[in-house]
This record gives sequence, structure tokens and C-alpha cells, in this order.
Amino acid sequence: MVKQLDYMKAEELLNMYGIKVVSGKYVKNTDEAIRFFDGEAIVLKAIPSKPVHKSKSGMVAVDLKTPDEIVKGFNKVRKAAHRFSPYKILAQKMVKGTEIIIGGRQDAQFGKLLLVGLGGVDVEIFRDFSLRVCPITGYDAESMITGLKSRSIIASSDKQFKMVKELLIKASKLMSDNDISELDLNPIILHDDTYHAVDLRILE
Ligand code: ADP
Ligand code: MG
Repeated sequence: MVKQLDYMKAEELLNMYGIKVVSGKYVKNTDEAIRFFDGEAIVLKAIPSKPVHKSKSGMVAVDLKTPDEIVKGFNKVRKAAHRFSPYKILAQKMVKGTEIIIGGRQDAQFGKLLLVGLGGVDVEIFRDFSLRVCPITGYDAESMITGLKSRSIIASSDKQFKMVKELLIKASKLMSDNDISELDLNPIILHDDTYHAVDLRILE
């Protein structure tokens, strides 16, 4: 049966492959959420045990900058998540930058596939992505990026190009080494010469 890895387990697995995940913590109540807050904006999201589109269902509250906003955000996502019980509420640091998607699939015909493209909630609208069979080479990773219409956004500098290339090689290794039917890192946010995955969906 297909099972979604718990967020914290998914984070652990990604860290093992050197893929950075934004700092986050499960919070049980508004006090814990406020304690996670250190003056920089945070995000609260409900994570049901079954995979669902969280933002479409009102389960993501972004850019919370005051204790008052945090309380309101917490109550909003909890209310929205009620019908998807069981769920947990995750607090994350807010990061701003370019959203990309890195995905993986186990395909009956082709085997393990890796995908990259512009990410975020509008990923379906852009329809701009590159696909390769795992494991990919360094050359594959480069051509996956240069083949995108959005290449100048995703690789806005040589440094960023190299960073995304390395990230693709790590994701390919993760796919190759493990029994993963579906990987969805959407988005990974590119910011300040680094990146962080903020939404982790790994189906076994
Ligand atoms: P889902 O894809 O299930 O709707 P996400 O966790 O991807 O849920 O959140 C939806 C959107 O909210 C993301 O595409 C991103 O724009 C924004 N978002 C989520 N988490 C963060 C974060 N930690 N920092 C900044 N933006 C975020
Ligand atoms: Mg997402």
C-alpha cells in the first residue's frame, strides 16, 4: 500500500542525501507556535497523514509576523484541517525566493524518473519541466536546467546554476537508492545563494 512518509521522517531522509529542509517543528497549540517565533516571519500548515493539496484547502498560513497573526493562522489551519483528520500542525520559518519543483516517479515503463521545473502552487499552469531517467549524470543535470524555458529564473547566476545541478544529482541518488513511488519537493525555495525545501511529499 502507498504510504506517505511523516514530514519529520522525510526531512531526515532528505538530510541524509544533503538536501536542505527549512527549519520546522510540530506545534500542538498556539503557545508552542508563538514559542517557535523569534521575530522573523513564520508559516503554519496542517499536515494530514494522507497527501492532500494543503493550500487549496486553506491549510497553509504564510508570513505570520506577530503573535496575534500566529494565533489567527493557527486557528485557521486547524479549522480547515478538521475534515482531513488525523493531522499535525507544522511551524516553519518563512523563506522568500524563487520556487522550483523537484519531483520523482516510479514509472512502470521507464523506471525511476526525475523532474525539475518552476514550482509553487501554479506548477500546473507553467507546464515547463525537464524529465530524465535516474540515475542522472552531471551532464544530464545541466541539460535538465538549460532545457527549461524558465532557465534564467532557475539559474539566475552561475552559482545558482551549480547549486540546482548539485541538488538534482542528490535527488537522483535519493530516488535510485530508495523505494520511493513518488517524490514531490514543491516548492524548494531558492534564496540568498542557498535553498530550502519547504513542502515534502514522499510516497513509499
Ligand atoms: P501545498 O503544496 O500542499 O499547498 P505547501 O507547503 O507547498 O502546501 O504550501 C503552499 C505554498 O505556500 C507554497 O507553494 C509556498 O508558496 C508557500 N509556502 C509554504 N511554506 C512556506 C515557507 N516555509 N516559506 C515560504 N513560503 C511557503
Ligand atoms: Mg506544495
